[in-house]
This record gives sequence, C-alpha cells and structure tokens, in this order.
Amino acid sequence: MPVTKPIYLDHQATTPLDPDVLTAMWPYFIEKAGNPSSQGHLYGWEAAAAVKKARETIASAINASPESIIFTSGATEANNLVIKGIAEAYFAKGRHLVTVQTEHAAVLAPCRYLEQHGFEITYLPVQADGLVDLDQLTPALREDTILVSVMAANNEIGVLQPIEKISALCQSRGILCHTDAAQALGKIPLDVQALGVDFMSLTAHKLYGPKGIGGLYRKPQTPPLKLIPQLHGGGQEQNLRSGTLPTPQIVGFAQAVTLAHQSLDTESVRLAGLREKLWQGLEKMGDVIRNGHRTETLPGCLNVSFWGLDGAQLQTAIQGKIALSSGSACSSAKPEPSHVLVALGRTLAECRATLRFGLGRSTTEAEIEQTLEILIKAIQRIRG
Ligand SMILES: *Cc1c(COP(=O)(O)O)cnc(C)c1O
Repeated sequence: MPVTKPIYLDHQATTPLDPDVLTAMWPYFIEKAGNPSSQGHLYGWEAAAAVKKARETIASAINASPESIIFTSGATEANNLVIKGIAEAYFAKGRHLVTVQTEHAAVLAPCRYLEQHGFEITYLPVQADGLVDLDQLTPALREDTILVSVMAANNEIGVLQPIEKISALCQSRGILCHTDAAQALGKIPLDVQALGVDFMSLTAHKLYGPKGIGGLYRKPQTPPLKLIPQLHGGGQEQNLRSGTLPTPQIVGFAQAVTLAHQSLDTESVRLAGLREKLWQGLEKMGDVIRNGHRTETLPGCLNVSFWGLDGAQLQTAIQGKIALSSGSACSSAKPEPSHVLVALGRTLAECRATLRFGLGRSTTEAEIEQTLEILIKAIQRIRG
C-alpha cells in the first residue's frame, strides 16, 4: 500500500529549507569552513567576507544598517537578549515592562522570569479580533516603564499588530520599543525606519532558512542603546553575543531572506487567495469561528474553531492526513488551552476544537481542496 504523507499545513511552526538556501550554505561547511574571527589566513577571511555580505543582505531587507544586526541562535534568544538585557541595563531608570497576553512564549517566559527578580510586567489584553487596544496601551505606560514589547505578527492567529502606532506612543514617552518579527519576516514588508522600533527579533527557519539562526536588530544611535549581553565569551557581535559565528547558517539566513523578498508580493497574494478559499469552504459548513482579524493578518495563516465539536474526535479524524497545530497543547496528559485563544475569549472546549492552518510555499490549490474534502467529510461524520 502506498504511504501518503500528510499535507503539510504547519508553516507557522517551521518551514523546510529552500534547496537554494542549502546550495548557498554548502561551501561554508567544508572548503570555506574557517572561523570568521580568524583574521590571519584565507579561511577566516572567506568566512568573514561571507558573514559581512549576509549581514548587509539581511539588514537591507529591513531597511537597516549592517552594524545594527546582532546574530543570535534565533528569535527565542533575540527576545531573551532584548528583554533581560534592557531590564539589566535600565533597572535604575525603572522596573516596569509592558507586553501583550498573546505574545509568544519566548517573550512571555522572560517577562515572567523578570517578575521573579523585582520587575513588574503589564500584560495587555487584546480585543476580540486579536488586535491590541491602543486606548489600553496609553494608560499602561508609566514613569518607570523601560520597554514595550509587542509582536509584529502572531504565530497562532496571524494577527498583525499596529507597530508603527505603538512605537510612536513609546517614543513620545521616551520608552524603548521592541517587536518580535519572527513570523513577519519574509511574509510582509518590514521597514525598521517606518516601524520606528528600537529592537526587532528575527529568525530564519520560519522563512525557509536554517533552524538555529536569527538576529536582533538594534537601532543605531550615539551613544548606542544600552543592552547587557546574556552570553559572555569571545566578544563577538560587538560584545553583545559571544560565540563563534555559524557562517553556513548566517549565509543561509541571508539567502532565505533574499528569496522571500524576491517573491514576497506574488506569494502573499497567492497565499491570501488560498487562505480565503479554505475559509469559504469551511464557512459553508456552518458553526465555525474564524479567530483573529480578517485582513490585518498573515497571508498564509487561518485559525478556525469548530463550534460544538469534540476536539479529540477532530484530531483523530485528521491524524495522518493533515499536519497542523491545534488550539491546545497536547504534549501533556491534560491539554492546556492556547493562551492566545483564551485571550480572544475562547472556552477550553473551543480551544480543543480549533485548528491552525499554516499555508506556505509548497501549498497548492489541490492541497487546499483535499484539506477541505477531508475536513468536511470528517466533520459531517462527527456531527452525524
Ligand atoms: C517561532 C517563533 C519564535 C521562536 O523563534 P526561534 O527562532 O524558534 O527561537 C518566537 N516568536 C514567534 C512569534 C515565533 O513564531
């Protein structure tokens, strides 16, 4: 019996490497494998030149200058570096930070860590559509607020936050502003100047680049914005992030950014079209809730709760056929509802009967039709 692999609709979790990215990385594993910090021989120079070029590519994709990019192992590390690094650098000025209830764990967990170390965090609620209410942000800003961190695009519901407005508000109050753009890079245009942020977290593996590489953008100014390093060692990355630079990953990151930007316009239109086709098919069944704002959202993300459906039955029905994420973490014996869906007002039962469809470069119209067929059949069977 032929084995049919499930349809991959989990592009918000991670993406496969683009073959062109692997091609670009290859030489830096073997014949050009020097340490970019080795400045005494050809191998080091080759690696350093590749890192320099990659840094320029990544920086220019977000309209930044090369020296504003600090390479890290990904967005988790970039978020930890900025949140803890700012807290440590500015604690004399204030010990209050503001973030949002729907942030990724890589923002929420460092914030909770800071709470155990004398800092106070305000977790802003979101509106029913997942957007931050700016009227709630204003009163949350205090004399002792040192950082506001709001994600550019949500990983579960795709919602795009009004970063420009948030950063303007922060700037008028002299408060630093950070955005986690792990889901946004390569999917929507990102311009750090226009967005007006002081810090931005990036990662490569959500845009067909390698896992384990990302970066933190830090707005350049004199004197530089203070940031206390969280990894100490050889002093790489302006002493802000020590550790031998992984040349192949950095080269791959840049190639992934280049490819994503080449096709950003056409791909976002294509994915948004497929997303709407999927939604319209599901909507016809009735008793479905679309989670998150309809238009202020990532082109490839659709999050749907199937009302009145048993979550476990839904999971079983798609098991082995469609690879995607649900609205509850089933890793533990007792499934925890998604904190994002809870913030939108979903109940535990609704969270369990929620699916996140993550469409990406490999997604075809035929796959969307198959997905609809599988789901419609399964749901009709469950509903009897
Ligand atoms: C994936 C993701 C992260 C974590 O990024 P890593 O590079 O895997 O550490 C952080 N924030 C958001 C919004 C993400 O989607």
